[in-house]
Amino acid sequence: MKLKSLEISGFKSFADKTIIEFMPGMTGIVGPNGSGKSNIIEAIRWVMGEQSAKDLRGTKMSDIIFGGTNKRSALNRSEVSMTFDNSDHYIKSEFNEIRITRKLYRSGESTYQINGVDSRLRDIHELFMDTGLGRESFSIISQGRVEGIFNAKSEERRGIIEEVAGVYKYKQNKERAQKELKQTGDNLARVADIIYEIQ
Ligand code: ATP
Repeated sequence: MKLKSLEISGFKSFADKTIIEFMPGMTGIVGPNGSGKSNIIEAIRWVMGEQSAKDLRGTKMSDIIFGGTNKRSALNRSEVSMTFDNSDHYIKSEFNEIRITRKLYRSGESTYQINGVDSRLRDIHELFMDTGLGRESFSIISQGRVEGIFNAKSEERRGIIEEVAGVYKYKQNKERAQKELKQTGDNLARVADIIYEIQ
């Protein structure tokens, strides 16, 4: 799975439609302070379903819509699309290419699409589940978060390493299975009691 392109329109400082194509290899984005580098990363987080306006450096979600400048009036809509090459089917989907889109209007109306089909936020989350890309993943590390990881307690840091290594989901599955096993054990004990009473 590879990130192919990002299309931003009306999101923060990107008033006009801007398309960023990600070529094979590593992509670096450079620019003067305030030119919108962080806004690009935030556009990626937003299209993947970020729900916290604060984490996008705003107070309310509509703050991400282009708010105007001296030369240009504010817009009423923000739209971001991200396209993945999924020919290796790393994302569990039959499609070789996956395009997700999120739109937000100043009125508050908000939509998500997967390959042009209206979808729910939950569908977006499920799409990225187990890919290491979801909202809570460590595929995007902000400046402040680096410091947070350094200052984290050793158990917390271990959790982060487990998450990155893909061990965390197995631990969760194990815990769930152990709980079910215990519940089944309790049920069996109850059945044994009932049989004993009947006999
Ligand atoms: P630095 O190198 O200092 O970290 P940067 O290149 O990462 O900067 P960003 O933080 O991405 O820059 O962009 C900040 C710019 O985005 C500011 O000029 C700010 O005014 C503009 N901006 C943020 N939200 C909006 C919005 N809703 N409408 C218009 N412009 C916005």
